[in-house]
Amino acid sequence: VERTLAIIKPDAIDQSAAILRFIEDHGFAILQQRRLHMTPEQCSDFYAEHYGKMFFPSLVSFMSSGPIIAMVLAKENSILEWRDLLGPTSSHRARETHPESLRAIYGTDDQRNAVHGSDSQKGAEREIRFFFPDGK
Ligand code: ATP
Repeated sequence: VERTLAIIKPDAIDQSAAILRFIEDHGFAILQQRRLHMTPEQCSDFYAEHYGKMFFPSLVSFMSSGPIIAMVLAKENSILEWRDLLGPTSSHRARETHPESLRAIYGTDDQRNAVHGSDSQKGAEREIRFFFPDGK
């Protein structure tokens, strides 16, 4: 099985029970789960690849605005399948093209899009280590 890192972002934390049910209904095993409130420094580190982009400061402030839930999900082909269930980055676009996706249902706009998923095997390894450094 393949592992991926999922996040319920601050804008969707009140919907986390429904999102967790969605995850389990789609056959993912939740291997690790942690609720935390990231500092702006941790957010900058996590999203370092976006440093310098116009939306970076507001992304950091959004992601540090409240608690999140970080999870390690396991399933065959989980990286691609979880990305698929998220829908497009923009919640507006998600509602147009992937109305069943999590971002269509729980997202608000281009930034407040409810959920995150690793985009590659390398990315998943890095992100899992970021939130679960001891493998715990
Ligand atoms: P994620 O990495 O969170 O799963 P993604 O891969 O779909 O999302 P990225 O391009 O990696 O999207 O952007 C990371 C996050 O930055 C997005 O999920 C969103 O919250 C925010 N973001 C991306 N593009 C924009 C934008 N144009 N305006 C505002 N926020 C944005």
